[in-house]
Amino acid sequence: TTARQEASRASSDAGTSPPVLRAFVDGAFVDSAGASWDKLDPVDGSVRARVQEADAALVDRAVRAARAALDGAWGAAPVAQRAALLRRVADRIEERFEQFARAESADTGKPLAQARELDVPRAVANFRAFADTIAAAGQPSFLTDLEGGRQALNYAVRKPLGVVAVIVPWNLPLLLLTWKVAPALACGNTVVVKPSEQTPTSAALLAEVLAESGLPAGAYNVVHGFGPASAGQFLTEHPGVDGVTFTGSSATGSTIMRAVAPRVRPVSFELGGKNAAVVFADADLELTLAGLARSVFANTGQVCLCTERVYVERPVFDEVAAGLADRAGALRLGRPDDPATTTGPLISAEHRAKVLSYYRLADEQGAETLVGGNVPVLGGGLDHGSWIEPTLWTGLTNADRPMREEIFGPCAALVPFDTEDEAVRLAGDTDYGLASAVWTTNLSRGHRVAQRMRVGLSWVNTWFLRDLRSPFGGVGLSGIGREGGAHSLDFYSELTNVCVAL
Ligand code: NAD
Repeated sequence: TTARQEASRASSDAGTSPPVLRAFVDGAFVDSAGASWDKLDPVDGSVRARVQEADAALVDRAVRAARAALDGAWGAAPVAQRAALLRRVADRIEERFEQFARAESADTGKPLAQARELDVPRAVANFRAFADTIAAAGQPSFLTDLEGGRQALNYAVRKPLGVVAVIVPWNLPLLLLTWKVAPALACGNTVVVKPSEQTPTSAALLAEVLAESGLPAGAYNVVHGFGPASAGQFLTEHPGVDGVTFTGSSATGSTIMRAVAPRVRPVSFELGGKNAAVVFADADLELTLAGLARSVFANTGQVCLCTERVYVERPVFDEVAAGLADRAGALRLGRPDDPATTTGPLISAEHRAKVLSYYRLADEQGAETLVGGNVPVLGGGLDHGSWIEPTLWTGLTNADRPMREEIFGPCAALVPFDTEDEAVRLAGDTDYGLASAVWTTNLSRGHRVAQRMRVGLSWVNTWFLRDLRSPFGGVGLSGIGREGGAHSLDFYSELTNVCVAL
């Protein structure tokens, strides 16, 4: 079975027996001797696919195939060839645009319209952006003055990091996968990808597109599985892996760090967040409420950049709270292919249980629930899906657990503040440091507050606006390193300095 058939069956509503998703190793889909699991549809709980778990032997085969491709055709490919391949991949994803959008929507339960607007276009953009980046990359050379009037010439040569393990989560599976695979391949690396157990389909589809575009066998491999005692752990502990790029939770990042520590390999971590928005009384409230609502509820709150804490200057607190609650109330939960749907389910029953536990905790800690707070009753065959109500609270403080821990659901707490210093202090009072957004019409204040935020990404009067050349990453529990544009090249390559005595 090709990835195309597997993925389109996984995304069709009419399938009788669920399709089987297998690993992709050395240019072919292969069977695993390991167990299989059912990938459930978050919309209605039905079985979407049976996924074969890669055992340690298969992960080993994948890493060896990646090593062979690194030592062979792909590691030796000139920059122009790599950039051209990335551009072809972008074109082919566009040709299969609808197939990718449907597969992504089916795996995650997100509205099809959102997969069309964000996930697939960004995958295309990722390949084009890193084709441009690698084509333009250069290194400075310089002369060193030596005694006696002699000189030495220094220059640096960029080489691939090697075999790179790419481990990604379920919330934006294709977007985050291509965000890492594109720069890794651009730099001449080979990769072994472990998609989330919740969202295995788009990594398999991408395998087919890369092969069709002329990527040599072994340069891109996919192993399916879980984290501990499964493909994730086998991969990160494998001695043949030269570096790990990971997007996921901070706890898993810490585990992966320990797994590679004995071999001292580089890691790039894009981890969790507990992001704050700060709304000043002088903000354009229409613009602010639209942006705030998006930042809290986008992708059912399952974006690492989503806002879960909203600090509002006291004179406009009631107005912002009421306006945001109105917008939450206007969200439409429903099937992904219904154009009226704005909001899908959470990814799984387990994740809903976690989010719901924070809803109950907020109740116990005396929060006032402005909107939501429960599991909705939707009917129409959706009762077995992992649906949850968009939710807003007031009355919590930074000491309460729902204000300190990443919930990763469609919810936020609003808290009033009186001064700029207080807002900065409250927003920074977290172990995380991924993103923040400041809403104000006083641009001087906007710049000042944005720069004082202890985060990797600081927005003013917008949210989620990304130029792919700019650095992306977090501080504290939110990660290590930056990816994006030339910053990605820094992670995905090694520099050898050559010093020539003249
Ligand atoms: P997760 O950490 O549970 O899983 C992420 C991936 O790691 C999955 O593929 C999983 O199978 C794998 N994994 C789990 N344990 C592992 C182990 N011991 N060894 C190797 N691999 C292992 O995260 P999730 O629940 O899939 O995703 C949600 C989290 O991702 C949230 O915390 C969110 O903030 C974060 N996230 C961060 C960013 C960012 O760019 N900073 C983007 C998206 C999501």
